[in-house]
This record gives sequence, C-alpha cells and structure tokens, in this order.
Amino acid sequence: MDGPSGTGKSSVSRRLATRLDARYLDTGAMYRTLTLQVLRRGVDLTDPVAVGAAVAEVDFTIGTDPAAELVLLGGEDVRSEIRGAQVTGAVSAVAAVPQVRAGLVELQRRLVAAADRIVVEGRDIGTVVLPDADVKIYLTASPEARARRRNEQNIVEGRGDDYAGVLADVQRRDGLDSTRAVSPLRPAPDSVLVDTSELNIDQVIDELERVVAD
Ligand code: C5P
Repeated sequence: MDGPSGTGKSSVSRRLATRLDARYLDTGAMYRTLTLQVLRRGVDLTDPVAVGAAVAEVDFTIGTDPAAELVLLGGEDVRSEIRGAQVTGAVSAVAAVPQVRAGLVELQRRLVAAADRIVVEGRDIGTVVLPDADVKIYLTASPEARARRRNEQNIVEGRGDDYAGVLADVQRRDGLDSTRAVSPLRPAPDSVLVDTSELNIDQVIDELERVVAD
C-alpha cells in the first residue's frame, strides 16, 4: 500500500490487515524512528554521511501486530514522539539518504518474509521493497482532503488546529518525497489506484477488500 500522507493509508492498512487476518507493517514509522534518533544525536540533516552514521547501529523495534502498535527506540516507547512536529519536519530529509533506505528496505523484506500474510504501507513498497507483491494499491486524495484529515487527527490527538500549516506541510513533503533521487514516490505501474478524497474509511476498506478478492 503506497501513497502520500493524509490519504488515510495508516488507518486503512491497519484495519485491512485485521480484516484479512494479516500482519501489518508501517514503514513510515521506521523512517520516523530513525529520524528521532538523528535528531537526538544533534546531527546535521544536510550531511548524508553523518545521518547514515547516526543510524548505523541504532537499536529499534517496530511491531507487526495490527491490534497493538509497538515502536521502541533503545527500549523506549516513542509512538507519540515520532508523530510530533519535529520528526515530521525532518523525516523527508532522513528518508532521502540512500544508506538509510538500504538498511530499512532490507529489514522490511525480512519482516515480510517472516509473515504468512502482511499489509505493508509506505511510499516505495510496490516499486522497490516488494516488486512481486500479490496486490499493489496506491491510495491518492486531493492535497486539501489530505490536509483536512491530518488536521482533524492533530486536533483529536491534542496537537492543535492549524489547517493552513498542515496543508503547507503536506505539499512540502509531497514535493520532497516525489522529487528525491532515490525511490521517489510514484505508483507502481501494476498498482490499483484508489482515490479516497470523497470516501470515508469504511467505504475505502470495502473497496480494498474487493480489490484484494479479485
Ligand atoms: O507515512 P508517514 O507519513 O509516517 O511517513 C513519513 C515519511 O517517511 C514520509 O514523508 C517519507 O519521507 C518517508 N517514507 C519513505 N518511504 C516509505 C515510508 C515513509 O520515504 N516507505
């Protein structure tokens, strides 16, 4: 499952995994966790060598149970911190470092190999990580619909109401993610495109269950 931020990708992927009795892997959480490590080390984000070195030996865990989110950095629960503004502002820079991507792609493939059936969500799953995936879905939605959802999520989770700021961040990250040299965000040629702008989560899940069943 690939697509830009704010398409409902995470909630949809997690719920789809539960319905399919599958494991669930949030690869964005991996990039975010390594970004937190880079920030804690005080590394210069514009220095790819330093960023690569900062994450080389990092001890972190991302769980694959769709019913229990698990994100540990050095044994510490960082589920909330990786969704904060600091990490969100820095993650695209860290995710653009080839050494970071290479390490995570290898780990993602190992986690997939260990599962009977798994829903993997990210930006490059159908294009790079799992080119032979049984089903490839690319979720899209207008930037405005995506910003509205992110903003609502921020309000619910106590991070404040700032639609204009969220829209600017969505557009900034779209730009960075789709123009970077390594693994730019784009649909795999054999993926099924699902536009979620006008759909609620139940409608999206129903549509995806149809796609998987086909
Ligand atoms: O999905 P989420 O918003 O948590 O992803 C955070 C960031 O991680 C994205 O903006 C992107 O820069 C990076 N990412 C990536 N490749 C993935 C998943 C996430 O580059 N497979």
